Amino acid sequence: MSPPCTGGATRGRAAVQAVGLAAILAAAATAHVGADAARWFGVRGPRCLAGACLDPIGCPACGLVRSVASAVQGDLAAACRFHPGGALCAAALFAGFVAAASRAGRRRPLPWSQPLATVARRAFVAAIVLGWLVRIALHATPLIHAP
Ligand SMILES: [Zn+2]
Repeated sequence: MSPPCTGGATRGRAAVQAVGLAAILAAAATAHVGADAARWFGVRGPRCLAGACLDPIGCPACGLVRSVASAVQGDLAAACRFHPGGALCAAALFAGFVAAASRAGRRRPLPWSQPLATVARRAFVAAIVLGWLVRIALHATPLIHAP
């Protein structure tokens, strides 16, 4: 059975998703990653309110921007130090981009595009949670950078 035709609105939404994910990946590729923050043209990236109010170990996402940027730039060791789930998040962002881009340009979606999008969303969330748990378990070791 072939997948159903998608309407223009669905293709339009997929195009917006693809452009957004491409922008995130481009920002990750162009970031200057430092020990304290990621920067673009000298401007510091976002600060985490939860990490500022709580101990950063208590925030599941602290370090994720630096980690994803490091992973996209090919520095997997740094990515793991900033957030153990960042490399998987970067892979999930790329998979989500591929899935959205494949839906955006076709009347009939490719049969793998929707399952890939679902796996990418679930992997992204799982990477944040599992990476946070790994960071909690290993935060006192040099394997993990203090967020
Ligand atoms: Zn945080």
